[in-house]
Amino acid sequence: MDEKVSTGILKLMFAAHENEKPLPENPILQVMKVGLTNPSNQYQNTSQQRYRVAFSDGREYVQAMITSAIMKTLGKGLLERGQLVRLNNYNFAATHKILIIQSCDLVSNVRPIIGNPKPTDEQESKANSLQRPQIQQLQQQQPLQQRDYQQQQGPIMSQRSNNPPQIMPPQSIQRPQTLQVRPPQQSNIRPPTSQTNDGDEGVFPISYLSPYHNKWRIKGFVGSKSEIKRWKNQRGEGKLFNVTLLDNSGEIRATAFNQQVDEFFNVLQEGKLFYISKAKINVAKKQYSSVKNDYEITLESGTQIVPCPDNDPMNMLKFDFVPISDLMNHEKDSTIDIIGIIKSADDLQSITTKATQKIINKRELTVVDQSGYMVRMTLWGQQAENFEMNENPVVVCKNVKVGDFQGRSLSVFSGTTLLYNPNIHEAKELRDWYQTIDENQEFNSFSGMGGGYIAMQERIENRKTIEQVKSENLGGGEKVDYFSTVAYVIFIKKENNYYPACANTGCNKKVSDENRDDGWHCEKCGRTFSQPNYRYIAPISVADYTDSTWFQCFNDAAEIILGCPANDLRLLKDENDSAHDAVFEKAYFKPYIFKCRAKTENYNDNARVRYTVANMSPVDYIAQSKEMLQNIKILDPIRVHILPSVNTAKYF
Ligand SMILES: [Zn+2]
Repeated sequence: MDEKVSTGILKLMFAAHENEKPLPENPILQVMKVGLTNPSNQYQNTSQQRYRVAFSDGREYVQAMITSAIMKTLGKGLLERGQLVRLNNYNFAATHKILIIQSCDLVSNVRPIIGNPKPTDEQESKANSLQRPQIQQLQQQQPLQQRDYQQQQGPIMSQRSNNPPQIMPPQSIQRPQTLQVRPPQQSNIRPPTSQTNDGDEGVFPISYLSPYHNKWRIKGFVGSKSEIKRWKNQRGEGKLFNVTLLDNSGEIRATAFNQQVDEFFNVLQEGKLFYISKAKINVAKKQYSSVKNDYEITLESGTQIVPCPDNDPMNMLKFDFVPISDLMNHEKDSTIDIIGIIKSADDLQSITTKATQKIINKRELTVVDQSGYMVRMTLWGQQAENFEMNENPVVVCKNVKVGDFQGRSLSVFSGTTLLYNPNIHEAKELRDWYQTIDENQEFNSFSGMGGGYIAMQERIENRKTIEQVKSENLGGGEKVDYFSTVAYVIFIKKENNYYPACANTGCNKKVSDENRDDGWHCEKCGRTFSQPNYRYIAPISVADYTDSTWFQCFNDAAEIILGCPANDLRLLKDENDSAHDAVFEKAYFKPYIFKCRAKTENYNDNARVRYTVANMSPVDYIAQSKEMLQNIKILDPIRVHILPSVNTAKYF
């Protein structure tokens, strides 16, 4: 018993992680809870199976992920609540405050839970009221034997951190002792009628619910509520509805069947808070729900649902907002949280669903945020019908579904919690920002990105330097290769860069006046014209910072580069030599985006790759910069963001 918990070490670990400093070495933490990340697979003991473990440092606790392979290195069986563990190698998941344990040792057997640990990411005061009763409950559910261990006495010193030892007041660790004398069957839950200011006593965080807890009470916000659905099969028929309940720890789906539909459908109202207890907890049927919980609640005949007097339900919700610019990093059909301004709303539309041939109403909204991106979001049914565009509301969606229409889109479905102008600081920030931006501010969209990530990757890979075009032997194989490049025009041949073409619009066939005196004859059209229409076919030399080469340019491309039609250039050549040369001088050292075809052609038995310009445009620096930023964002796992509210236009 000489190893002690590194009291308060989690704060240092998070600080080191956030500041990219070396992480504190070998912290010792206490196991508070062990669960499978995917309980439906609990009998498949593969090494990929992961466990979710809550670790406490005596003051706070944090969620951690451990694979079963690492669990096995700890000796017999699973970790148990109360054990002390030394982390030898650990890190944090990139986007969440979750510990990833790569190696650890067991340093003590089960001990009473030390201190009064609170979740790391919550405000102290709120966590206090929420967590204390929960720990009392957990202790009562443990066998008496486990609670007979002597509580450590005196101040606890932090171990194995480079900081000075931190003293914890002894009185804070004595509270569990006084609890031990209570008879285990006594409930902490007061009847709802006696609720006063501490009506939250005995409230369980939703994320901690599991079938192994039977005395619990949650305080949940009804995020979404389904219509009453009727079902019929061989065993009979019935009806059901479900709600998504949320608090600041997580979310869970609750379903009522038949009689309970009559009892609870009108009680549970969207956007309201309720205390719920005495219901059944099952493993979630994930195929029917995208709610992020391994379990779900079934409302039973004895279930108690009591409206909660708390009038600020936003305190209960936890969001993990994704900037709209980041949508490419989220797969189709995943669900995310979004906050944005509704920039515009389309009229209501009616469509017939493919599956059921039912007519359903929908409404498309355009949502923007500070990332400088916009996305189309679809409302369905009543939510589409009831929507009213009132100025530019802030919209918050919890669990909105990601689609790939026009690159990326969003769809509000039955599991989505939809809130307009909620009273949270992010909404205020967003509204303030929207009031400062220009009315005609342009937003980036995802359209043109086609099939999403893969198409985007191809597009990035398709951009080549001239050196890459050569070294990768583009066009050197059987098939034609396509690439794009940004290059400068450095030289154009002044002779033989156009040909006489048929004057019949759209023909472009080469014509000749040889051996005839009536004009220029087109064999294809069978017509003769007094004048041909000269068209460019010009080899141009281009260079970038890596190399130079020759591109073959047809009329449209050469006309952009030279700035005049071939007919005019021919006239100049006859009339004014210096003006003719000036056209070329003016064309040099300008950059363009060239889209080219590369193909092997044979000249006198010599195979040579020819690059032909299929399309070209002047370099639009703003668009190019935005595209480069987008590419960086997709390639960089840490996700670089455009600085919010920076108007890139003013730098060009
Ligand atoms: Zn013709």
